[in-house]
Amino acid sequence: MSTGQGSGKHKAKKDHFIPQAAGNQSNQMAPGSRAGNPSGTSQALVPHQPSQAQQEQTMLVPKGYTVKPIVPAEKAELISVAKAMHREEFGSRVKELFDPEREAALDALQTGIYIGYRCPEYKWDCIRVGVKSKCFCGHLLAEHELCSSVRVPCVVMDCQCKAYAFIPARPEDVGEFWLRKRRNFDPSAWRAKCRCKHNHEEHNVVGNHNCKISGCSCPAFDSNFLCAACDKHWEQHQTFFETETQRKEAGLPYGEAYLPFAEMPNLRNAVLSGNEADDSAYQAITSGTGSYSHLGPSSSSARPALPPATKPR
Ligand SMILES: [Zn+2]
Ligand SMILES: [Zn+2]
Ligand SMILES: [Zn+2]
Ligand SMILES: [Zn+2]
Ligand SMILES: [Zn+2]
Repeated sequence: MSTGQGSGKHKAKKDHFIPQAAGNQSNQMAPGSRAGNPSGTSQALVPHQPSQAQQEQTMLVPKGYTVKPIVPAEKAELISVAKAMHREEFGSRVKELFDPEREAALDALQTGIYIGYRCPEYKWDCIRVGVKSKCFCGHLLAEHELCSSVRVPCVVMDCQCKAYAFIPARPEDVGEFWLRKRRNFDPSAWRAKCRCKHNHEEHNVVGNHNCKISGCSCPAFDSNFLCAACDKHWEQHQTFFETETQRKEAGLPYGEAYLPFAEMPNLRNAVLSGNEADDSAYQAITSGTGSYSHLGPSSSSARPALPPATKPR
């Protein structure tokens, strides 16, 4: 594992994301000062602009905050934008936006298997991958068999996919928030696309992912979208399957630190419960048995356990 600081090159942010949350200076964010203070005031959530040094780490470091941050700056900025636009219904919007990642995180805490989509040098995940997350082959993670941390083939009949590779399946995951507002937008029909204009399902699932559409000479899937969390291309990311121990050793967040916005209580609450001021869901996760690794039986995950000891790299 590299000890890299995330991306050194941090591109200028996409204009459409930053209608400048006004006056977002401040120690409003310092979570310490808010612990145990369930005031539902909402401007306390707006992240400040990351400083130069913070941008180099592609992370948001709330002022006065000392615990190791794991939130990619831009995802936090998306939230500030969403907040500016939907102030009253902010909590439920955030929850909806992060529903898949919340489910993925809770599954990971329960099973001890963490599945993350990120660039290999990062110390955090751009997307927490869950059973309903889509693979480049067009099938869900649930339709893949977790043989080992490096062997996760698709089990759908006639699918050639040998290794699950997360691909964004929602326009929000690539920052295209406006699409959902279009009157005829059909979320189930949306597919991430290549620069050749054909989508991932129209590319070969094995080899270099050349395009299968006749007449198209595209030799390899070349994403026409950027990651909403880090602004890098799909090709620069990988999907990692890791145990809690492997993440611990690699310095990656695990346990409750893996929850979306773990270090920002209000956002974390919004993701967990739809209400910034309500930390009951969080308390339920972290208390009880006293260990967040033992959440008890929950709904969805029917994934086989990952055999121990296989190092992903
Ligand atoms: Zn498949
Ligand atoms: Zn697949
Ligand atoms: Zn292509
Ligand atoms: Zn093509
Ligand atoms: Zn990314």
